[in-house]
Amino acid sequence: MAAGSRVTETAPGQLRASGKLLRCDSEFVGVHVGENGRHLVAIRPIPRGTRVFTLVGREHPAPTRYSVQVGPELHLDQDCARDEFELVRKYFWRYLDHHCEPTVFIRDREVIATRDILEGEGVTFDYNTTEYDMASPFDCECGSERCVGTVRGARHLSAEQRARVEHLLADYLLGQVQR
Ligand SMILES: [Zn+2]
Repeated sequence: MAAGSRVTETAPGQLRASGKLLRCDSEFVGVHVGENGRHLVAIRPIPRGTRVFTLVGREHPAPTRYSVQVGPELHLDQDCARDEFELVRKYFWRYLDHHCEPTVFIRDREVIATRDILEGEGVTFDYNTTEYDMASPFDCECGSERCVGTVRGARHLSAEQRARVEHLLADYLLGQVQR
């Protein structure tokens, strides 16, 4: 995961015109390289409910700067690759930005569209729905009315914030965060 929150919202059809697009091992997403860094974007329209891709990587017992939590004490990070191109192609999920009203959610390592996603739109998820306590908290700038401000993991959500994302919370977090 990129520890940032700026979402790339490129107009449909404008992907290649507005910056470099790195190909990934996915028919749905690519990594857009723009002035604000690298962000995962849709390279074609993605209907709501689509399984966009599956998270793969090396398992760790503790969170790292870019890991995604996938179990009670289980975190995925990128694994080794021959070069930077292969690293991006295989572990493109690292460029999933956080958003407080995200376009995808994660369930059992499957990344699923929460709504219809346009070509060029940012592919984002709510870090607070997978992470219990993040290694690298940051201030969100998503601009959503529901923005939580500082993103630190589900452990730090207020009861009200938690209620809003309850339907997207990972199973292993349900018993851990306060009701
Ligand atoms: Zn936000």
